[in-house]
Amino acid sequence: AQHFLARAKQHQNLGAFVSINEDATLAQAKAADALIASGQGGKLAGVPIAHKDIFVTKDFPTTAASKMLEGYQSPFDATVVRKLADAGVVTLGKLNCDEFAMGGANENSAIAPVGFDSAQPVRNPWNHDRVPGGSSGGSAAAVAARLAPAVTGTDTGGSIRQPASFCGITGIKPTYGRASRYGMIAFASSLDQAGPMGRSAEDCALLLSEMCGPDLDRDSTSLDYPAEDFSAKLNDSIEGLRIGIPAEFFGEGLSSDVRTAVDAALKEYEKLGAKLVPISLPRTELSVPVYYILAPAEASSNLSRFDGVKFGHRAKDYVDLNDMYKKTRAEGFGDEVKRRIMIGAYVLSEGYYDAYYLQAQKIRRMIADDFQAAFKDCDVIAGAAAPTTAWAIGGKADPVTNYLADIFTLPASLAGLPGLSLPAGFGDGGMPVGLQLIGNYFAESKLLNAAHRFQ
Ligand code: GLN
Repeated sequence: AQHFLARAKQHQNLGAFVSINEDATLAQAKAADALIASGQGGKLAGVPIAHKDIFVTKDFPTTAASKMLEGYQSPFDATVVRKLADAGVVTLGKLNCDEFAMGGANENSAIAPVGFDSAQPVRNPWNHDRVPGGSSGGSAAAVAARLAPAVTGTDTGGSIRQPASFCGITGIKPTYGRASRYGMIAFASSLDQAGPMGRSAEDCALLLSEMCGPDLDRDSTSLDYPAEDFSAKLNDSIEGLRIGIPAEFFGEGLSSDVRTAVDAALKEYEKLGAKLVPISLPRTELSVPVYYILAPAEASSNLSRFDGVKFGHRAKDYVDLNDMYKKTRAEGFGDEVKRRIMIGAYVLSEGYYDAYYLQAQKIRRMIADDFQAAFKDCDVIAGAAAPTTAWAIGGKADPVTNYLADIFTLPASLAGLPGLSLPAGFGDGGMPVGLQLIGNYFAESKLLNAAHRFQ
């Protein structure tokens, strides 16, 4: 823990951490030492990790990278945090992210990282002028720069897989409902999932085994499906594994350097005995408009709780209750969050609901059905995690350009399927490229096995 705290300090220019509390970390480390000495510590006892600042924690403040929650202190730990703590992990601190996990570049954080007086974009450790991806950008940067051996992230539309891809690490989003959302600050509840990010599939498997499992009393969408030991099948042979290659993931829009790296990775898979099977996911393109209707709709509803009454920021000067709400929300939320609240309120409003929200829900189901049809012919699906490598900080100022870059991660999110990104080589400028593997429901073990054999 001391080693990683020192590294976090040494590399604070990356902006990866938003809070560190050395005393709390060292107290947890002492407790882990005692657990190990008593012979009760499992594989993760004493392993220092850090959490995305979307998970509430009782030993550290929780902000969701928003001014709205600056200084907020949760009285309890999120289920995922508690389960990892029960396994003996030690928390190094909280990691930067896009505000309320809305973004794909970690340029939307409103909170000053440790060592700064104002909000900063997180920097990609491979090239400090590039973004680390998002929204779990602090998480990915911390692992890539070895400020933590492994971390947690959350993925609503790609926020684990895309930053893992941009930072050359491994990250997995499990099947929707396998990891509890209790204590994870909600963005879009029907999509939000927690998952681990680490250097390898092996490390992710260790964390994921502790993160999953039913939490039926606390999360109404938690699945009554047992946790499993995701390390057990890592070394299984992948001889004969059928890897589906969706034509729609390899069309125009995929940059040529990413394509070259992905093609080379797929050749390696063939050498390992896998078979490449052409498949089609015909509604891939629709996943962008569908997601950017449904996710803001859910966000506009979820974020209504930030009204200055119950917790978080409250405006100082106001004339009455309505004025207090308005000023609090005007001051507390950043531009991207406001944009999504407005889109969400619009698509849910009387007269537009049927045209937008309902249509999007129907297409969401068709996207899920397309995957089920594809899984008749293959065991896992592979493609790039993102159309390009990490772009320059400030390079995609237009929101729609940002949204379009999510095209390859959104389909699995909308279908609730598990998805993993593993390092698959390098593109232009020596920037990492991630290969995405998508599995059927509960096929996490298969994804981790396929990633591990490659690594
Ligand atoms: N980039 C996507 C968005 O901005 C996904 C974010 C996420 O998965 N949290 O909504």
